[in-house]
Amino acid sequence: MQRIAVLTSGGDAPGMNAAIRSVVRTGIDKGFETIGVHHGYQGLVDGDFQALGPRDVGGIIQQGGTVLGSARSEEFKTPEGRRKALRELNQHAIEGLIVIGGNGSQTGAHALSEMGFPVVGVASTIDNDLYGAEITIGVDTALNIALEAIDRLKVTASSHQRAFLVEVMGRDSGYLALMSGIAGGAEAVVIPEFETPPEDLAEQIRIAYERGKAHAIVVVAEGARLNAEELAHYFKEHREELGFALRVITLGHVQRGGQPGAFDRILATRLGAKATEELAAGRSGVLCALNKGEVITLPLAEVVSHKKTLDPYLFELAGMLTK
Ligand code: ATP
Repeated sequence: MQRIAVLTSGGDAPGMNAAIRSVVRTGIDKGFETIGVHHGYQGLVDGDFQALGPRDVGGIIQQGGTVLGSARSEEFKTPEGRRKALRELNQHAIEGLIVIGGNGSQTGAHALSEMGFPVVGVASTIDNDLYGAEITIGVDTALNIALEAIDRLKVTASSHQRAFLVEVMGRDSGYLALMSGIAGGAEAVVIPEFETPPEDLAEQIRIAYERGKAHAIVVVAEGARLNAEELAHYFKEHREELGFALRVITLGHVQRGGQPGAFDRILATRLGAKATEELAAGRSGVLCALNKGEVITLPLAEVVSHKKTLDPYLFELAGMLTK
């Protein structure tokens, strides 16, 4: 194998650039020439390619986002779209592909590898919802950004006796909300994995008020059955007396845009290196991920056919700490 390609797909995650850099530079050791694909799978379908030398990936390790751009491609989800992508890869004499992304992206990687093309995945999403990966690229940085916001909100909430409903990203996964709730000392956490009826949440906020707390912080996952705005609406409609005045804050994309921290840079570098190693060894159809502190590979078929679960004990723990 002489020429490989790399793409970033799905939601951008801090650390993706460190992974691209690692692929390009460790690839040189394996005798690879690397082609960068712009805008994820759409760029693969359109043949939007750029050769990446070691200097082209200089100065990007500290940047958030992805220099290659990311996109969501409906076309690639169709067999015709994937055939077009294969044609582009073959026309450019590309013999292997590295896909840096989350669940949907690895499903696409699996589909391409099933068509006989060598593909290796790198686990990268702030949602931390990839089966087999303990923690994915971008999670740690996104978590720290959410935490910084929560810490600041606590200061102002205490001054004004307020309750804040803080909505954090994570699509259908409550991981970021739960972890930022635990680390930020939230009074309650609302996540899709475990149902919290809104009347129970109102009761939790009232209890915090009656206990004499200066504020109440509730971290709400964007994928929860009722999001932060809907919860606030419910409280208003049902004239729930909370004690505190209520405010809603949606962190949204602010959470994604940060400079990757040391953890994500190192994780991305290790996973990118593993991916080139796998292709060089002739292995394909696998995901490179961190599990129990070790860099491992597992079949993409297994990754995409399983759902990652959230440890119920951590949700219980969050509840125990709100006294
Ligand atoms: P994140 O969760 O961090 O946003 P993700 O990788 O899960 O990342 P998605 O939008 O779900 O993001 O997927 C990214 C892209 O992967 C899609 O736009 C599509 O091009 C491709 N993809 C998703 N599902 C499939 C599928 N079933 N078959 C082929 N390609 C797919």
